[in-house]
Amino acid sequence: MKKINFNAGPCILPREVIEKTAQQILDFNGSGLSLAEISHRAKDFQPVVDEAVALIKELLNIPEGYSVLFLGGGASLEFCMVPYNFLEKKAGYLNTGVWAKKAMKEAKLFGEVVEVATSADKNFSYIPKGFEVPEDLDYLHVTSNNTIYGTEMRYDLDTKVRLIGDMSSDFLSRPVDVAKYDMIYGGAQKNLSMAGVTFVIVKDDALGKVTRQIPTMLDYRTHVSKGSMFNTPPVVPIYTALENLRWVKAQGGVEAMAKIAKERADLLYGEIDRNKLFRATVQDAEDRSYMNICFVLNDEYADLQQEFFDYATSKGMVGIKGHRDVGGFRASCYNAQTVEGVQALVDVMKEFEANH
Ligand SMILES: *Cc1c(COP(=O)(O)O)cnc(C)c1O
Repeated sequence: MKKINFNAGPCILPREVIEKTAQQILDFNGSGLSLAEISHRAKDFQPVVDEAVALIKELLNIPEGYSVLFLGGGASLEFCMVPYNFLEKKAGYLNTGVWAKKAMKEAKLFGEVVEVATSADKNFSYIPKGFEVPEDLDYLHVTSNNTIYGTEMRYDLDTKVRLIGDMSSDFLSRPVDVAKYDMIYGGAQKNLSMAGVTFVIVKDDALGKVTRQIPTMLDYRTHVSKGSMFNTPPVVPIYTALENLRWVKAQGGVEAMAKIAKERADLLYGEIDRNKLFRATVQDAEDRSYMNICFVLNDEYADLQQEFFDYATSKGMVGIKGHRDVGGFRASCYNAQTVEGVQALVDVMKEFEANH
């Protein structure tokens, strides 16, 4: 039976991206060596990084003056590197859930942290709006898509202070006005590649403004000056990212990704709203994530939790168990998720409803 991968991360990737990576792992560019065996300084590998960087710049229409980096450590290391490199006195964080809180925790090691707004009062089921951003912040940090709670900001804030975005789980799913940000980052394993590489888009002239000493590996300037080749980068995940970027471009770029994301989301939220058994945990349509769609059983059907999970699993649905902080179900619909895949889940929900 065909499996449909709704995992929140590592996530579904286009089959052809996996196949092309697999071929290169067996024989890189006909060299007789595996991609896993070659030096990152091999003359054939530099073009891989160069093309991946160029494609990110092209797909997101990144203005001059920004560097694109591939680092290790995951988005979680960025939680520490961001304040290391940008926090002199005070930073603001929009607290929209677990990942934002983890980012705040690290920032507190470096200076004062202001929670500019939070949606904690309703278990992070909405995006705070209409909050004031103090003008004396070194930066404001936002999480564009909250993977665990299924909320998303599909817009780029206008701020007078530097804006830094964790875009781990909605990267390349919509056009982004990069000029509004001084930095965008994320772990690749949600929407860009396999686990093991972290992407960073950073405005060059925003760096070097803090007075503290920064360890070499944690200083973005090290990686900007060496084109992500200061030390051995994660070669295979970078290659997979390249193939995925080529795929995104071939599909029509981020505009096409945004269109299909809305199509998938309309289909699944439509069914959740219609089906008597289920309800969405995020009510405001504007705040509903197109990437991670969270739903629970209505109270009168709450005892069907395991039964629905088993039924959906028996029909090939993978990874739909909700995060423990939200419960219920979460269907992650990243770029490579097809409308047919989502339709299959919708069909399962309809059948299950008919049986109850
Ligand atoms: C998964 C996730 C992270 C953590 O990413 P790692 O690469 O595992 O460190 C951070 N932020 C968001 C929004 C995420 O979804």
